[in-house]
Amino acid sequence: MSFSLAERDDTIIALATPQGVGAIAVIRLSGKNAISLTNQVFHGKNLEKQASHTIHFGTIRDGDRVIDEVLVSIFIAPKSFTKENVVEISTHGSSYIINQVIRLFIKLGARPAKPGEFTQRAFLHGQFDLAQAEAVADLIHADSEASHAAALNQMRGGFSSEIQELRAQLIHFASMIELELDFTEEDVEFASRDDLRVLVERLLRVVEELILSFDLGNVIKNGVPTVIAGKPNAGKSTLLNALLNEEKAIVSDIAGTTRDFIEDEINIGGVIFRFIDTAGLRETTDAIEKIGVSRTQEKMKTASLILYLFDLSDTDLIEINRDINKLENLGVPFLKVANKTDKAKENIISELTEKHPDTIFISAGKKENLDSLKARILELVNLDKFKTGNTVVTNIRHYDSLTKTRESLLDVLGGLDQEVTNDFLAMDIRRSLHFLGEITGEITTDDLLANIFSKFCIGK
Ligand code: GDP
Repeated sequence: MSFSLAERDDTIIALATPQGVGAIAVIRLSGKNAISLTNQVFHGKNLEKQASHTIHFGTIRDGDRVIDEVLVSIFIAPKSFTKENVVEISTHGSSYIINQVIRLFIKLGARPAKPGEFTQRAFLHGQFDLAQAEAVADLIHADSEASHAAALNQMRGGFSSEIQELRAQLIHFASMIELELDFTEEDVEFASRDDLRVLVERLLRVVEELILSFDLGNVIKNGVPTVIAGKPNAGKSTLLNALLNEEKAIVSDIAGTTRDFIEDEINIGGVIFRFIDTAGLRETTDAIEKIGVSRTQEKMKTASLILYLFDLSDTDLIEINRDINKLENLGVPFLKVANKTDKAKENIISELTEKHPDTIFISAGKKENLDSLKARILELVNLDKFKTGNTVVTNIRHYDSLTKTRESLLDVLGGLDQEVTNDFLAMDIRRSLHFLGEITGEITTDDLLANIFSKFCIGK
């Protein structure tokens, strides 16, 4: 999907509210003729004589036939979302009315908008940069408090301004060094290599921090990868089910039947946790289960949080201590969760409380004490860094560009170390600039734009 220049001049129309019956529906028009077209079918005041940001009551008519009583909001270019003339018509929310109104406008010369075309126009007219445009999509799809806050921060430009500032400084150096290329005979130095090194090192620190923030960003957007680990029959599937409140995992009395991973998401206190149910941690001779076990260990290393679950009716302290030791060596935050309080062996609870006072005692089967487990889960996943308003990278495209920026910046540093010629240095700087520019949209291709905006829905 790319747009010809002529298409960019069209007046486009789409339903901005969801399909289906509602109390009201909002139909949005954008383009040079948005107001004049509306004026042709609107009976009420002359819309072309009204001020921007005003709302008017009247009827929409097809010839003599009244389609609906409506409210029309007017936004005169450039003071609108797309920076074009924009009209928003609030109709009654019947799909018949919506279709009739949209058809009427198409008859008059408006064109149905393509997915994301309103946002794309806003981007093309400089309303915001690409990272902010993408945040609009994220915001629409945000389904938890944390992902909503990250998208909102990005849309408001928190991310972009940081990138743009760094880029501006680097552009300055690039042009200075390129200028030197014109004076090769004279052996002048407009750009101090020491200053350049300081800037590149500073840039690298920021870029690396942003790259690191992607882990957190990813977690916010896609959920905290959480592993429930423990021996077969500890109650992992039961716990997952209890947390999900539905029977998604295979619960079985036969040891070792939960061989594969069942992933699911639950929202705890505004944060999405992606639960990964695993085969047991137990050493095993069963070939299939063995694959499961090594995959478990792989998954555990990539998890942000491990719930180590053990069975109070069938376990001893030596075994628990050994497992806890292994987990401590893994370096992933974990919680010690003792399950089956309803049939705990004698004395085990008091022994455990003494030895491991941070143990959480639950009964997954009876759904007991799950609230304190959830509270402890939230405590352990420290999203505070994000809450302080720091920039968090949530977009894989940005992550890719940042990674490539880092590589090119390292090349610049390497070039400085080896005292390479100016043309090589300039090339590496330009490459870094290119990748930084990809993020905010200073550098775009039609394919890239098409790819980004096609993910939007129509009317956005
Ligand atoms: P997994 O192999 O670790 O996934 O364990 P399962 O979730 O399949 O549970 C093994 C058995 O323990 C099943 O029969 C469950 O019903 C039972 N179970 C799980 N949690 C509890 C509990 O809190 N109390 C009791 N009495 N039984 C439980």
